[in-house]
Parts: sequence; structure tokens; C-alpha cells
Amino acid sequence: MPLNIGDKTTRLLLALAKTPLLFYPHYRYHLPLPSVLMIENTNHCNAECVMCPRELLARKRGFMDLGLFEKIIREASAPRRKPSVHLHGFGEPLLDPLLPERIRLAKAYGIRHTYIVSNASLLTPEMSRQIIAAGLDKMKISFYGTDEESYNSTMRRLDFKVTLQNIKDFLRIRKEMKRGNPRLILQYLPTATNRNQADAFRALWEPLIDKRAGDRLNIAALHNYGGGRDYNRTGQKIVSVCYFPWTSLSVLWDGRAVTCCMDSNGVQVLGDLNSQTVQEVWTGPVLAGVRDDFSKFRYEAYPACRSCDWVCRRGV
Ligand code: SF4
Repeated sequence: MPLNIGDKTTRLLLALAKTPLLFYPHYRYHLPLPSVLMIENTNHCNAECVMCPRELLARKRGFMDLGLFEKIIREASAPRRKPSVHLHGFGEPLLDPLLPERIRLAKAYGIRHTYIVSNASLLTPEMSRQIIAAGLDKMKISFYGTDEESYNSTMRRLDFKVTLQNIKDFLRIRKEMKRGNPRLILQYLPTATNRNQADAFRALWEPLIDKRAGDRLNIAALHNYGGGRDYNRTGQKIVSVCYFPWTSLSVLWDGRAVTCCMDSNGVQVLGDLNSQTVQEVWTGPVLAGVRDDFSKFRYEAYPACRSCDWVCRRGV
């Protein structure tokens, strides 16, 4: 019997096929190399958004050395299988003057998918031209307001009019350059300060984005930032397996690899890519221990996981 995509059972099977549960039935196997590589180019930021726990950032601020960046990309790019590369971390990626060069390098190593998340306050027409020409594939822009008052009080230190104009310029320039990429995701996050105006957000952006190019809007929800905030009440015990250690690797700007992008202070370190290869960290004993712990729901030794709400929990 042919599978029908409109059929409820077929959709359920497809959804199941996407879960790591099916790919890693006993959590003993992992991919030969990470399929997603999250590389923090910088942890500097020019904003003070109300929802972000930046005041808790205890790490030194800096930018990743370009030589180290190239080493990581080279090691993670196996001949046949390339990871998706995220070029941001706990900071604003456009503060990095080497960002266009990093995108170019990643594309030169055959990376098919490059991605950044930005506040777009520094997305000047010149920067737009540079990242489009470098080959960036996708860009998510956090735009958490619908007018000057709601935006400026939520994304503090940024300016509604400047960012709005930057994004309009970007859309125009991408068209002028006859490029479909980077595809744009415009994200809104309802908070107490922006008065939860998702409909006004849609009304503002729907006429401007190019859906045929793959642009879209996204209405997100607050999360706990790996324990940096407590927006969502979390139960005592994690009862699902967080699959990050099986699929992706996060690297801080100084070269230390950590369990995931939620670990903003680098307290769950897996290794150091200044002295180890990606392969050594990915197949090494530290990550093997993390996989073993997570697969048995043992998260007690992982401070960032303890109040993370990306995993299912039970108990009060
Ligand atoms: S449980 Fe949360 S903090 Fe821990 S590795 Fe997974 S996403 Fe990161």
C-alpha cells in the first residue's frame, strides 16, 4: 500500500523516523563526526536584551582565532559528509570583522549549510553585501518588538529604526544581487516588555519578506537558557535523553568544546580543540562518559542541564 502524506499514521511514522530514538536505539552509536557544528565566533554583544542572562557570563570575552577556526572546519569536514555550521554562540556574530571570511572559508571546505543568529543592528548595507557574497545560507534575526517603545525596551541598547532599516536594506540588496541566500527567519519572542504583539509583528513583516526565497517568520517562546533564567518551571528529574552529544558539537571562541550551546559559561567541557582534533573530542572518553550518563538519565553532574527545559522532566 503506498504511503499517503495526508494520512495520520504516515505522518506519525515520519515524525518517529526523525527522532534520535530510532537512530540510536541503545544510545551506543553516534555519528562518525558531528552533523551540526556550533562555532562561537565571539561572545561579545552590543545589546542587553531583557530575556538574556548575559549578566551571568563569567567567561573572558574574545573572538576566535582564524587559524583555529580553519583547523576546526578542516577536521570536521570529512570527504563525504559535511556538518551544518552555525557561526554564532553567546554573542552577536556581526561584531566579528572576520565573519565574512569565516563564511567564505567554510564554503571553500565544502560546507553546504552555514547559519547565523543575529540582532541585525550592525547589518549595514556593506555587511549585507559581504555576507551574501561570502555565501551565507541562512540567517535568523531576533527582532523582539513592533514599534520603538516595545523594541527599545526589550532589546536594550539597540534602536528600532536602525535595525528595521538594516533588514529592509538587506532584503533589497539580496534581490539586487539576484541571490536567494541567506534565507531569512525573522523571530519574535513575546515578553512582558514588548506586550506580546505577535499579530502586529506578522503585519509588520509579512509584506516585506520573500516567501519564495524561503524567508519566514517565527514566533518563539521563552526558555531557561540552560538555567540562566527560570521562565519555565522545571521538574526535579530529567526523563528524556538529550541527544546533543550524539549529533552536534559546540565550540566556544577560545577553542573549548562543550556539551551544547546552552552551556554559556563553559562548565561542561569536553575537550580543547587547540590541542585536540575534532575526531579526538568526538570519539574521546569524556564525551563517551557524557553519552553514557545522559542515556541513563544521570544529569546530576551537569550544572547547565540541571535546570534546562529543553528536556522532559517529572516531579515538582
Ligand atoms: S540537557 Fe540542556 S543543557 Fe544539558 S546538554 Fe541538553 S540542551 Fe544542553
